[in-house]
Amino acid sequence: MNAVPGNVERTELLHKGKANNVYATTNPNVLELEASDRISAGNGAKTDVIGGKGEANNLVSMAIFQQLNEKGIPTHYIGPGSNAASKYVWKADQILLEVIFRFKTKGSFTKRYECEDMKPFDGVYIEYTYKSDNAGDPVIPESAIVQLGILTRRELGYIEYITEQVALFLKEFFAKCNGDLIDGKIEFGRLPNGQIAVTDEISPDTCRILDKETGNSLDKDRFRQDMGGVAEAYQEMAKRVAGLTEKKPSTESGGCAYAG
Ligand code: 5GP
Repeated sequence: MNAVPGNVERTELLHKGKANNVYATTNPNVLELEASDRISAGNGAKTDVIGGKGEANNLVSMAIFQQLNEKGIPTHYIGPGSNAASKYVWKADQILLEVIFRFKTKGSFTKRYECEDMKPFDGVYIEYTYKSDNAGDPVIPESAIVQLGILTRRELGYIEYITEQVALFLKEFFAKCNGDLIDGKIEFGRLPNGQIAVTDEISPDTCRILDKETGNSLDKDRFRQDMGGVAEAYQEMAKRVAGLTEKKPSTESGGCAYAG
């Protein structure tokens, strides 16, 4: 299962999420994840459709996952899907956590602790939320993650280590796009061989990125906070990432980090 499957084809729609569609494929270990133009905030309280968002986000997400694979960080990413908005991924059992990394105070952290905005953390600050729409994705302490059997202590340590590596990589990645990464969310799952890997998407839907020169928001905050220019921000980020990946030497080839 090391090789990228060449003849995989999408079959039925398995799940229509808030932003992504998940399709089965002719390979039982492979799914096709399609980023849609749907956008939502406040646990689905506010929704809209932003033309071109799916393709723009998928371009960003694929570039990031490709580079994580090249760095040897285990991810579920296999390669581009059957259309510009989709990617092929290894099937993974979802771990019901959202792992939040922060470089500066903002968003729910600032609100929760009534603290100053944009104050740098000493290193990468990591916290977890329990992924449940019913419960409203509450912050979950490490002791509860272990108590509930979501992860063992050892797995939690591994996820913390990988999250720090991913966060530091993303900080550099977005800096090359003239962006200042403030915080973000990643997810994890268990691949068929039991390996814990980074899953889902990593894009301006899941990261807070400010333009380095203007300080303008280049992410989903434009929608959350009714700032306008939502579609333009997604397109701008995709354009910057495309420029970045075009600069890479074409001899570099990625591989799937999954040695299943
Ligand atoms: P906050 O906790 O400040 O709302 O979010 C911190 C970071 O994680 C932000 O970059 C935000 O985009 C991301 N994030 C947190 N929860 C979610 C979520 O449920 N969905 C998405 N797409 N991003 C999230």
